[in-house]
This record gives sequence, C-alpha cells and structure tokens, in this order.
Amino acid sequence: MRRPWLGLASIIVLLMVTVWLAFVWFHQVALREAGAEGNAAIQRLGRDLLVSVEKFEHLPYLVGAEQMLTQALQSPDDSARIANANRYLVFAQKRTDVAAVYLMDTEGQTLAASNWDTPASFVGRNYRFRPYFQDALKGGTGRFYAVGATTGEPGFFIAAPILAASRVIGVVAVKIDLNAFEDKWRAEGLQLALADEKGVLFLTTEHAWRYRSLYPLATSVLTQLHETLQYGNLTPDKLIERVGTAPGPQVQAMKVGGVPYLVQGHALDRFGWQLLLFSDPAKPRARGLLAAELVGMALTLLLLLMALVWQYRRRMAERQASMRERAQVVAELEQRIATRTAELTAANDAAVQTGKLALLGQMAAGISHEISQPLTALRTLADNASKFLERQDAGNAGNNLRLIGELCTRMGSIVGELKAFARKEPARLQPVSLKHVIGSSLMLIEPMRHATGTRIVSDDIDRQVMGDPIRLEQVLVNLLRNGIDAMEAQREKEIEIRVQDTEDGHVCVSVQDRGPGLSPDVQQHLFEPFFTTKPSGKGLGLGLALSKAIVREMGGRINATNTHPGARFDLILQPAPTTPHPHASPVD
Ligand code: ADP
Repeated sequence: MRRPWLGLASIIVLLMVTVWLAFVWFHQVALREAGAEGNAAIQRLGRDLLVSVEKFEHLPYLVGAEQMLTQALQSPDDSARIANANRYLVFAQKRTDVAAVYLMDTEGQTLAASNWDTPASFVGRNYRFRPYFQDALKGGTGRFYAVGATTGEPGFFIAAPILAASRVIGVVAVKIDLNAFEDKWRAEGLQLALADEKGVLFLTTEHAWRYRSLYPLATSVLTQLHETLQYGNLTPDKLIERVGTAPGPQVQAMKVGGVPYLVQGHALDRFGWQLLLFSDPAKPRARGLLAAELVGMALTLLLLLMALVWQYRRRMAERQASMRERAQVVAELEQRIATRTAELTAANDAAVQTGKLALLGQMAAGISHEISQPLTALRTLADNASKFLERQDAGNAGNNLRLIGELCTRMGSIVGELKAFARKEPARLQPVSLKHVIGSSLMLIEPMRHATGTRIVSDDIDRQVMGDPIRLEQVLVNLLRNGIDAMEAQREKEIEIRVQDTEDGHVCVSVQDRGPGLSPDVQQHLFEPFFTTKPSGKGLGLGLALSKAIVREMGGRINATNTHPGARFDLILQPAPTTPHPHASPVD
C-alpha cells in the first residue's frame, strides 16, 4: 500500500535537515569572517599600543643622564640642587608629554618630581614597594602598570637606574597615561580590554570590567597585588567564564558578567599583556539564520516547482492514456458497426431480392388486370359482330368492328404506355380537348360501369389543356375505377365528373364518388407506389402513384379530399394557349 504522507514527511525532514546544515555552514562562515576581521583589528590596535609605550622606554635613561639629577642625588639636602632637579624634570615632562617624571634615591624616597608644586606631588613619597623601582635598583629597566598610589590615577611606569662609578645611586621613573587608548577604542565602536600578566583587566572600554580578572586569582597573586598596591586595595574578582566549545578558530564563546560574547585575544608578549576583543554572537548567528532562511525558501520553491512539473506530467500521461483508451473503444465500436453493417447489408440484399420477386408477381397481376378489361370488351364486341353478321346487319357489325379496331389501338397504347413508363420517355405535351379525353375514358370504363351498375354523370364543358391524351385517359380511367371500386359494397353508385376553371387560371377536372371516403391511414399513403387496400390480383397500388407522376409531367398536380360522403380527386392542369404555342405543338 502506498503512503503519500510518508513521502511528504521525509521531504519535510530532509528540507529541515538541509536548512539546519545551511545554518551551521553559514554561521561558521560568518564566524570565520568576524574572527578574521576582529583579529586584524586587535593586531593593529595592539601594535599601536606597543609603539605608544615603547617610544618612552628610553626616556628614563635619557632623563637620568642629566648631571643635575646626579648632583641632587649626591647632596639631597641642598635645596638649590633639588630645585634645579625639579625644574629639569618639569621641563622633561612638558617636552615629552608624559604624566610625570620623578627621581628617587636608593631607598625609594622621591627627591624631585615634575609635579613637585602640585597637591599630589610625589616629592617625599617612598615607592620602594613598587616592582619597577626594585627592578631599576637592580640595574635593569622597571616596567609596571598600576593605579597611582598618590594620585589614584592609573598609569604605566617605566624606571631606569642612575649610575655613578658603576653603582646605582638612584632611580628615574616615568609615568605614562594610557587612558587615551580607551577613548580611542570606543571611538572605533569596539569593546576591548587589556589584561596584565596576572589576568587582571586594567584598560577597557567597559567601565564595569576594570580591575576584574579573567580567572580566579591565587592567594599568592592577591598578596602580591596588595603588597605592590598595583590596583590599590582592590581585590579583582572573576569576570569572564568560558562557555561551550570554541565556535571558531581564534574565537571563544564566553560569558562576560553573564552576557554572552565572542572573545578573541592577542598577546602583547613584550609586557606579558593580552588585548581582548569582545563581539556580539548574535550578529554571525543572524547572518547564518538569514542564509538558512534563503536556502529554505529557495528549496521550498524548487520543491513546489518540481511538484508542479511532476503533477503536470502525470496529468499529461493520464490524458494520453485516456485518449489511447478512448481511441481503442472507438476502434472497437467502429469494428462492431462495420461487422453489423455487413450483416445488415447481406440481410437487406436478401430482402430486396425477395421484394423484387413479390413486386414482379404484383406487376404481372396488375398488367393482366389492365389488359383483361379491353379483352372482355373485345370478346363482347366480336360476339355481337358475328351475331350482327348472322342477322346480316352489316351496319352494326361494321360499327362493332370499328370499335374492335379502336380497342386494339387502345391496348397497343397500353402496352406502349408500359414500355414508355419503363423507358421513362419524356411526355409529349400538346393541347388536348378535355371533352374528348373524358369521352374516351368513359368508353374504356364502360364495361366495368355496366357490370357494377354505376351511374356516371359528366358535364358538357370543354377546355383545352396541355397534356398527353393517352396518359390523361389513363389517369381518368384510374380515378373512375377507384371510385367504382370504393362503392362496390353499396347499392347507390354514382360518380360525377366536372371541369372548372380555377381562380389562378388553371383547369380542374374533378372525379367525385359517393363511397366511404378516405380513412386517415389511406390518406397518408395514398400516392405511395404499391400502396393498396384491395385484394391481391385486383389492385397493384400503382394507379395513384403513376397518376401523380403523369400529372406532374404535364405541369399539373393531383389532390385528394374527403367530401362526406365520398372522396373527390382533383386534377389541376395547365390550360393550352389560345394560339398554339410553338413548343406546345407535337414535335414529330
Ligand atoms: P389500387 O387501385 O391498385 O389499389 P391506387 O393507387 O389507385 O391503387 O389506389 C390506392 C388505394 O387508395 C386504394 O387501394 C384505395 O384503398 C384508396 N383509394 C383510391 N381511390 C379511392 C376512392 N375514390 N375512395 C376510397 N379509397 C380510394
């Protein structure tokens, strides 16, 4: 079973891990950069500090070479010599811009000083407890940072011995003020501290950190501090503690008075000092976080994009699959339709074949029916003619023979008609006398009329119409026969033939019977070929269909209406032009 949430969860976890790794990486980069930057700063400031201090290194030697100081040391009670020494020291202090210059005897007693005339004068003070004095007395250079025992002002002391005949007879000391460095560092916007060899911060941009230590001081160290009064009577306590592992090269994570800091150190070996730079750990962390956020956002976007592309491709694939499926279904359907069509066509062909045979039978029946009427008439006329001849009634016999001749012509035309119909020859239109056509039709129908006892009424109106006389007779005979057939079951049988002019200039021949009329079903199919309600052998169902085709060929039409009682068939025909039309005349 597939579990989509599992995939999603692993993607999220992967994303989070990547973002975390990005943070770690970029945090490291930021730390390294900050470390390098800070390192450069403390190197520069350390050098700056050393140069400032070192330039005074030889000052006590230079000052001590003055004869006036040796004279003062040799006769310390000579007030004139002491005054000279004081004047000289003031001069030296002013020219070099140090905090103070002073002269001590071998007991550490100050004989003369540049500040001799100030309330905080060193004169009369004893500094033998200061290590710088001790070092100079031994013949070396004394160096010491301390809070002034007299002034309370911190300073850097450099001392040198004054020799006479290779013997130390006194010590000259110079006090340098380093407080200016604190201001300078602050001006650079840095947090710095300078620690002495014992780990006590004595110069710092942060006031609260002054005279506090990097680590707990040993009792011996504390005793030493108190004896030398290096920082007066203060007992430096631990300010800084290390936290965790170093976050980067040259950089330590520390807490200074409880506040987290990144700390970098630079040793000023000349004096055993350490210059420390403190910076805010939030800055590189913020850079790391920002980079991680960007990476996270970019990755999320990428993942979304990938998801979109994936979904799009999946949808395309699905669509293609469904299209293939549909095409297959369509192909199958088409195949089935083709098979079915082939089957149906085969079945239909068989049906058509059967239908043709049936039609042939009906046609045969129709044709024999068509011919049997004139044949019956011929038989009667021939019988009567022979009877007239027996009676030697040549006139009536001749009349009958003439009628027989006419009927033969008639039958010939019926056969010709069928032939013409089969050949589909164009109708030969000519002006036709309706009276003549109606007369011929009545003659043709006479045997049937007589046999059925039907009364046929016709008015005497004559009109010339455009048509083919034989075909028009065929139509009229058809209508008359249908009328007689329709009234077969009733006793009163009457048909009325009328000729009328229509309002739109046509000529209408109507055949009206008194039969049952046309049922709705009959009316609907009346003019369709092979539609018949008559028993087999009697009706072919072609009569009205042929009539309609014939009338239409003459440029006319045929209508059927129920007249209650009976049905009426109207032939609407083109009138013949009054002067014979050239095209309307017989062609050959
Ligand atoms: P057929 O006479 O061979 O049946 P027709 O086309 O002449 O073919 O006529 C079709 C059918 O129309 C007839 O079978 C009959 O049902 C109906 N019909 C035609 N004339 C009339 C009429 N005057 N009265 C009632 N029904 C008629």
